[in-house]
Amino acid sequence: MPKPRMIEKVVADSGNECQHSGSILSDQQNNKVKPAVVRKKLVKKSLKKTYPVHTSNGKSKASYDRLSNSICKKAKINGKLSYSSVQSENDCDASSSVPSLASNLSGDELDSSEVVQIPADEESCSYITEEECDANEDVPPSISSDKTDVFQPALRFSAFSGVPPYLNFCLHDEKVAELPWTIRRCLKWKLSTITPIVVRKTVVNSGFRVIKDPKDWIGTWGKHMKSPLFTSILEHQKVNHFPGTFQIGRKDRLWRNMQKMVAKFGNDEFGFLPQTFVLPHDLRLLRKQWSRSTTDVPWIIKPPASARGTGIQVIHEWSQLPRKKPLVVQSYVKNPYLINGTKFDIRLYVFITSVNPLRIYLFENGLVRFASLTYSTEMNTLNDLYVHLTNYSVNKHCEGYVANEDANSCQGHKWTLQSLWTYFLGLGIDVEAIKSSLRDIVIKTLLSVAPALNDMLKNNVSNRYSCFELFGFDVLLDSDLKPWLLEVNISPSLHSTSSLDLSVKGPLIKDVLNMARFQFPNNVNSLSKQHLSDYISTHFKERICEKSSDSDEGSQYCVNPSTYTCELNEEESNKHEFYETAVQRAAAVPNGNSWTVQNQCADTENVKESNIIDNLTRDDIQRLIETEDELSQSLGFTRVFPADNSERYFRFMEKTSYYDLLLNEWQKKFGNLRDRTLAIDYLKIQLEKKFY
Ligand code: ADP
Repeated sequence: MPKPRMIEKVVADSGNECQHSGSILSDQQNNKVKPAVVRKKLVKKSLKKTYPVHTSNGKSKASYDRLSNSICKKAKINGKLSYSSVQSENDCDASSSVPSLASNLSGDELDSSEVVQIPADEESCSYITEEECDANEDVPPSISSDKTDVFQPALRFSAFSGVPPYLNFCLHDEKVAELPWTIRRCLKWKLSTITPIVVRKTVVNSGFRVIKDPKDWIGTWGKHMKSPLFTSILEHQKVNHFPGTFQIGRKDRLWRNMQKMVAKFGNDEFGFLPQTFVLPHDLRLLRKQWSRSTTDVPWIIKPPASARGTGIQVIHEWSQLPRKKPLVVQSYVKNPYLINGTKFDIRLYVFITSVNPLRIYLFENGLVRFASLTYSTEMNTLNDLYVHLTNYSVNKHCEGYVANEDANSCQGHKWTLQSLWTYFLGLGIDVEAIKSSLRDIVIKTLLSVAPALNDMLKNNVSNRYSCFELFGFDVLLDSDLKPWLLEVNISPSLHSTSSLDLSVKGPLIKDVLNMARFQFPNNVNSLSKQHLSDYISTHFKERICEKSSDSDEGSQYCVNPSTYTCELNEEESNKHEFYETAVQRAAAVPNGNSWTVQNQCADTENVKESNIIDNLTRDDIQRLIETEDELSQSLGFTRVFPADNSERYFRFMEKTSYYDLLLNEWQKKFGNLRDRTLAIDYLKIQLEKKFY
C-alpha cells in the first residue's frame, strides 16, 4: 500500500536540532526513491540550526530556527514522526521586502496586504499536491498535534435540530478526534501562496488535508480576489474575503469613503482618520493646506496600497514630496500617547461574518507594537523610522529592539492588547471609554463601505455561505487617548514570530474558523455520506435526523445550500418591503429615531402593533439560526454590531436593510450575552410553528 506523502515534514528533535522526516523517510524505509525536489529540500534543511524558544514559564516550548525563522514544533506522536511547522513573519520578510500584490488583482482592487508570498522553495510549508492526493486516496495521513492527550470532537452541532453539523476547529496545538478516512478524505483545504502556518496547522489538526491546486476544496485562506472571481465559488466552498473590501483595505479608498461620511455627518462622528490627501488628484488642495501652516508641520507619506511600513516617510518640507507616483499624504499625529517615552500603535482584529445583515465582531485581544527608539518631535529625527514607525517589520532591525515572549507582561517592544489594558488600569485610565471609542471606529469604518460591499455581493456572490473576512485595524492613541485610525489591513499578518504572537493568533484563528461555520460538502459520493451518517449514529445518537425522501442517506448532514440562498418567497419579500418602506418613511420624520418611530407607527392593517420578530418567516429563522450558532462560537470575540446601541448607527446607513432591523430587534429582545437559553427557546418555538 503506498504511503501518503507530505512533501515537507519538519520535526524538532530534543529542541536543538531541526530535522526533516515524516512519510518521506517512510518512503525510504520502503526502499522508495525520493523525488529529486524533495531530496534537495532535505539537504538544504539539514544544514539549519535551531535554538530553543523560551516561553513565559521559562520552558522551552518550541525550537526557533533562526536561519529559516520557523518555529519547528515538537511533533513526535506515539513514536511516529509527524508534520508540524510554524512559519514566522521573518520568513515573509526574507522572501520579499516589498509585499507582492496578487497578480489576479485589477488596478482597482490591489489590496493593502500584510501577507507575503511563501518563499519559492516553499520551505516550512506542509501540503500535498492534487496528484499525491489522488494517489493516496486510500491511505489516511495522520493528524499531528502537540497535545496528544487532548481530543476535541470532530463535529459541532447547532443549538437547533435539523441543522447539518459544523466541522470543529481547535487550537493550533490541539487536535480533533479522527474521523473515519472515507469522511475525512473529502476535507480538502486549498493552499494559497500566503496561507499562514497558524491557519494550516489549525485546519490540519481538524482533519483537513492542505492541497496545492486541488480539483475541489472546502476552504481556502488567500489574498483578496478580483470581484468577478467570487462568482466561481461553489456552494460548499468558503473564502476568507468578501468582494469589495479593498474599499477599506487601500489607504486611498479608505480615505475617500471616510471623506464622504465626514461630508454627510461631520467630523465629530467620522473625524477619526487623520486628514489625508490622495496624490496626484489632491495636489492643489494639499498645497493650499501646506501654505496655511506657519511653522514646520510633519506629514507622513505612504504608498496607497502597501503594508509593513514599506515606502513610508515622515516629511516637513514641500520639496521632500515625491511627485511622480501615486501617494497618500497624511497629517502626522505628532502627539502620540507614549509609554516609556516610545510611540506605539494597536492592532485590532475585526471579523465580519455577514454583510447583510451586518455582523461585526471585535477580538478581545490584539497586539501593541512599539517603536524601538525614544519618541521626539525634533525635525532632525523625522527620517528615523525607528522613532516614528511602529511596524514590527521595521523595528525588528533596530539594535535596541527587545522582543517579548510573555503574553502577560508589559516589557519589550511588543505587548498583547490585554497587557496594555492592564497597564492602563494600573494608571487609573478609563479603559472602557477607550474600548468604546474603538468599537465606534470599527463600526463606522465598516458602515462607510457597507453599501459598496452589498452591491459587490449582489453582483458576484449568490450564496450566503461563501464569504467571511478578518481585518486588522491599526489605531494610534494620541496624548489625550483619542484613537486615530491609521489603516485597515484586509490580509492582516498571522505569522507568529513568538509565543506571544501565537497566544493571540492561535485562539483568533480557531474562533474565526468556527464562527465561519464550515459544514461537510454536499457533492461527495454516497459512500462518504453513508459513513458520515454512520459516524453520527454511533457518536452523536441524540443528533440523528431524518433524510429527505429524495436524497441519499447522509445528505442531511451535509451543507444545504438552500438555507443559504439570497432568494425570498412572496411572504418573505412582502415582509421585507413593508419594514424597509416603513423605516424609510420614519427616517423622513424630523428628529425621529428612524426605527423606533417606525416601529411605533406601523399602521398597515395586518401588521399593526406587530413587531418584526413576532412572526418569523423561514428565511428570518435561517438568518437567526446562523446568528445564534455563530455567536455560540465567538469565544474571544465580542459582537459589536448588532449590539445594544446599534440603532444609533442606523442614521449612518445609506439604507437600513430589513435584516439589520430584524437583528436589531432580536438583539433588543435577547441581547448578546453568553446565556442564549431564552433566544434559543424562542427560536425553537418559531421553528416548530413554521416547519412542522
Ligand atoms: P503600513 O500599512 O505600511 O503599516 P501604516 O499606515 O500603518 O502603513 O503606517 C505605518 C506606521 O507609521 C504606523 O504603524 C504608525 O506607527 C505610523 N503612522 C502611520 N500614519 C501615521 C500618522 N498619520 N501619524 C503618526 N504616525 C503614523
